[in-house]
Amino acid sequence: MDQVLMQERFSQEGIYCLRNEPMKKHTSFAIGGPADLYVLPKSEEQMMRAVSLCRENGLDYVVLGNGSNVVFSDLGYRGAVIGTSSLSGEIEWVSAVDVRCPAGAKLATLCSFACENALSGLECLWGIPGSVGGAVCMNAGAYGGEVKDTLLSCTCLTPEGEIVTYDADALALSYRHSRFSNTKEIVLSATFRLTPAPQSEIRHKMDDLMSRRREKQPLEYPSAGSVFKRPEGYYAAALIEECGLKGTQVGGIAVSEKHAGFMVNLGEGTCFDLKRLIDKVKQEVFLVKGVRLECEIKMIGEA
Ligand code: FAD
Repeated sequence: MDQVLMQERFSQEGIYCLRNEPMKKHTSFAIGGPADLYVLPKSEEQMMRAVSLCRENGLDYVVLGNGSNVVFSDLGYRGAVIGTSSLSGEIEWVSAVDVRCPAGAKLATLCSFACENALSGLECLWGIPGSVGGAVCMNAGAYGGEVKDTLLSCTCLTPEGEIVTYDADALALSYRHSRFSNTKEIVLSATFRLTPAPQSEIRHKMDDLMSRRREKQPLEYPSAGSVFKRPEGYYAAALIEECGLKGTQVGGIAVSEKHAGFMVNLGEGTCFDLKRLIDKVKQEVFLVKGVRLECEIKMIGEA
């Protein structure tokens, strides 16, 4: 289907849609070529309509949260990138300790809300620059905690256009993985069960974890956080550092000098550079340490 026609169809439904939108503008690594269509539904109804339009017109789609764990190919994406950042909605009380949050909200907003209301359980997620939907999809976590610890349920849109609510048990949540890693379902909202605690304790923990991040992570450069998953029994950053790979550079992408688990974009880095650097690091770590590293970041689009 012609891109101009498709853009018109989205616009006729009142759904914001851009053509040939550079994905480097929407990802924290600042890498990635143009998506044919970049679609930003404002409501669950518009999200349903956007997915229907894709299905009816045989258009492939991928969902984008805050773009902090994905890298698009330099050639971009042939289809529609459906973003959740404009999905409207407030955080709602389900009970005195359960809160429902729209998927497009930033994790930071949810963590602040919990702290303001003296509810504990989300402190470990403070500082992760994702959306709530992206965090559920990735089962994001840090400092000994993860989404799985507090997630009660989530409501999703299936590729067939149905709205389904799953209990957390049905989400196959494990280390940086969920059922959404393998389905085209879109998380619309997520409900968390929190625990009352003194606000000062929650605030103290959040401040402590944030200062540890600032001290250890190269937050001054574009990146997508840790490039590799933690291999069983090891730390990827330690393995990479022990192989002497800190600072190794391919084109505009380098292994961070500050944190060997991060790769950073020094300015004009490309997905091609990143892939070559990933291969180099994987190869060296396997050769020297005998450990196979697996990518945590998601690569999207044509090679
Ligand atoms: P995106 O990057 O937009 O998407 C990630 C995946 O989720 C994609 O497959 C996408 O299709 C899917 N997705 C997004 N939204 C939805 C939705 N609504 N429904 C279905 N699928 C969806 N991660 C950690 O776990 N711990 C950390 O400590 C951490 N630190 C980081 C530090 C930095 C500086 C950076 C840049 C990243 C860090 N990350 C960390 C990685 C990243 O922030 C998390 O994985 C985050 O949860 C991704 O959320 P997102 O909204 O940005 O998702």
